[in-house]
Amino acid sequence: MLRVESLKKSFDGFLAVNGAVLNVSRGDVVAVIGPNGAGKTTLFNMITGQIPPTGGAIWFKEENIAGLAPHRICRKGISRSYQVVNIFNRLTLFENVQVAVLSRRRKTFNIFRPAKTMAVAETRQILDSVGLLEKAAMIAGALSHGDQKVLEIAIALGNRPELLILDEPTAGMSPEETAVTLRLMQRLSGELGLTILFCEHDMGMVFSIAHQIMVMQHGRTIIQAPPAEVRNNPQVREAYLGGADECSV
Ligand code: ADP
Ligand code: MG
Repeated sequence: MLRVESLKKSFDGFLAVNGAVLNVSRGDVVAVIGPNGAGKTTLFNMITGQIPPTGGAIWFKEENIAGLAPHRICRKGISRSYQVVNIFNRLTLFENVQVAVLSRRRKTFNIFRPAKTMAVAETRQILDSVGLLEKAAMIAGALSHGDQKVLEIAIALGNRPELLILDEPTAGMSPEETAVTLRLMQRLSGELGLTILFCEHDMGMVFSIAHQIMVMQHGRTIIQAPPAEVRNNPQVREAYLGGADECSV
């Protein structure tokens, strides 16, 4: 479904991504791991069009989408959440998701149909699927951090993506919230058949949910393989996990 080939991003000569390689098959849950500064967010920013690559290719369903604008990539079926929460704080949860649904359907709020009656069923269904329906009328800014991160996933689902990209979906979450998010991702993958690409620091979570793990260091891909193979790879243990003794995975 997604094939990233020798992707590069230079910021004033500094190669934040330096030949990254990534393959995501339809239906898979793929994790990208690597130390802070490895280039994970920059990689995701290029896949979703926030920043143009300096070199390389991004094949999505056999089309090279490298350098396309974010809204065009979104329409092709890729949605994402951000490492730092990105929601409309002063709108309700319902309105946050409704905007995404209406935007996909290319409908704008207009004078002939009150916005409140539009896309109601689908918006409610999405909120229900992430476990936030009870809080639909709350103002998003009043939610807990964990719920805000989940709301962001709900907004991404409003685009009905084929590929969902999550940048550190459990960052700043309590262990309980992390467990809820893990179950949510398992449900989105298992029940809805969504393809998920995410990066994450919580190794317990990564190794319990990912079918494939790609390890990045200094903008490069060290390996992409199933969890067991990654766990036993000497180069990964040395480079990323700080040697076998400290390895917690
Ligand atoms: P990660 O998400 O793996 O922690 P990032 O992709 O955020 O890593 O960053 C990779 C490297 O690129 C870091 O050294 C970071 O400082 C640098 N970087 C990221 N974005 C920019 C930017 N807009 N301008 C300059 N340097 C950047
Ligand atoms: Mg990051």
